[in-house]
Amino acid sequence: MIVKKAGTILLNLQTKKIGLVYRDSEKDYTFPKGHLEAGETLEKCAVRETEEETLRANHLLINKEICINTYTTPSGENVENYMYIAIDDGPTSKKIDLKDQENLKWISLNDVENILSYDNLKEFWNKIKSPIKDIFKNNGNISPAILTDLGICPTCYDKENNNCLYGNVSDRLLFENNEFECFLVDNPRADGHVIISTKKHYKDMMEIPDDLCSKIFIFAKNMMNVLKEVYYCESVYLCTMCDGLMNHFHIQLIPRYDFEKRGSKNFVKPRKEYVEDKEKINNLRNSIKSTNLNFINNLIIRKATYSDCKELSYLKREIWETTYRGIYPDAKLDSYDYLKNEEKFKNYIDNPNQQLYVVTDNNVIIAYIEFGKPFRPFENYEQEIGLFYIRKDYQGSGLGKKLFDFAYEYIKITGVDKFFISCHKYNFNAQKFYEKMGGKIVKVDDDMANNGLPQVKYEYKI
Ligand SMILES: [Zn+2]
Repeated sequence: MIVKKAGTILLNLQTKKIGLVYRDSEKDYTFPKGHLEAGETLEKCAVRETEEETLRANHLLINKEICINTYTTPSGENVENYMYIAIDDGPTSKKIDLKDQENLKWISLNDVENILSYDNLKEFWNKIKSPIKDIFKNNGNISPAILTDLGICPTCYDKENNNCLYGNVSDRLLFENNEFECFLVDNPRADGHVIISTKKHYKDMMEIPDDLCSKIFIFAKNMMNVLKEVYYCESVYLCTMCDGLMNHFHIQLIPRYDFEKRGSKNFVKPRKEYVEDKEKINNLRNSIKSTNLNFINNLIIRKATYSDCKELSYLKREIWETTYRGIYPDAKLDSYDYLKNEEKFKNYIDNPNQQLYVVTDNNVIIAYIEFGKPFRPFENYEQEIGLFYIRKDYQGSGLGKKLFDFAYEYIKITGVDKFFISCHKYNFNAQKFYEKMGGKIVKVDDDMANNGLPQVKYEYKI
């Protein structure tokens, strides 16, 4: 069993001294600390134990542990000790049990190492001594540099604590999804200097998963074009250089203007004050929105289930409206039967010869594809892609090719050497796509064929 304890490095900002406790029972010097009580948070425990042992009121400077020391006591107890930094608020007004009290000694920064009784504590102290010195210098205020030196990510800390370090960026935010965000820098090296930063903590680029890495870099490419268009800069430089003890992965895009020389000096142009330009911000936001960014969403392809069928029926109607209005007779579109179509999707799921897959973006179905044995037999083909529907705002994003490839691989496994796809004779957009995928026309219907819904059939060789 692991025993949890919490304690503090108690700082007196006036005297710039550290509060250590001398324990008569053990005849040793340590930092104030003690056992976590039932229902208590580690933070509360750290403050309470410090107060009880030193008789000093105190509060945590940083709402996060700076270290977790683990050790085994002589009696075999496995201890996890969470250490925080606390600021001394003067004598406590609470009544403290005599048994909980220890002897408080205020020790100057340079003597702490010698006075501490244990090597592991000395080692821990040496790691944090320099940032503690900076906290005194900074009159008890924390800075991103201090947090970094303490091994705490300032970006994550800022996010978790109401933007206490960097302030609210929402006015400068240009784009965000659930994985990353892009905003204008508040001390830019050039007008239009932006940062793209992950929401989750990664120390540097070497740590990010490949798919996220590619999404960010494709986004960066789009963003560079947008910057060029909105700021009329000649070029945009990209750099990432997360280094040091603790960093949060981000990349920087720095515009280079025609009045500036080309070259690496642009990476270190002097920083200047950020001046808000609402019109440019709107332009940036709108341009990014109109860039096709579907690729960076969280698309998942999975087999359709019964519970998808209602949503599929509504999606089908929506796609019909945007794709077939003007191609299908109005009456066909206007008399669309939601329930009947829901049943049709269920039939596909029930049919072992056909496969129905959906693509979801954040749990909303935005595309579907069906393939397998031809729904209506055609010549000697054993396989077809029967349904292939992508919501309009996801078309042209590369999703179509991905879905096509997915079905192709599936069909290939069945051992056939060809399959076909049918498409409405006047749905030219879709035909362009099917041709791009390598389809060869093998049949074109007369206009009156198929109950007035003439088709073109494409053959694909495997
Ligand atoms: Zn972080």
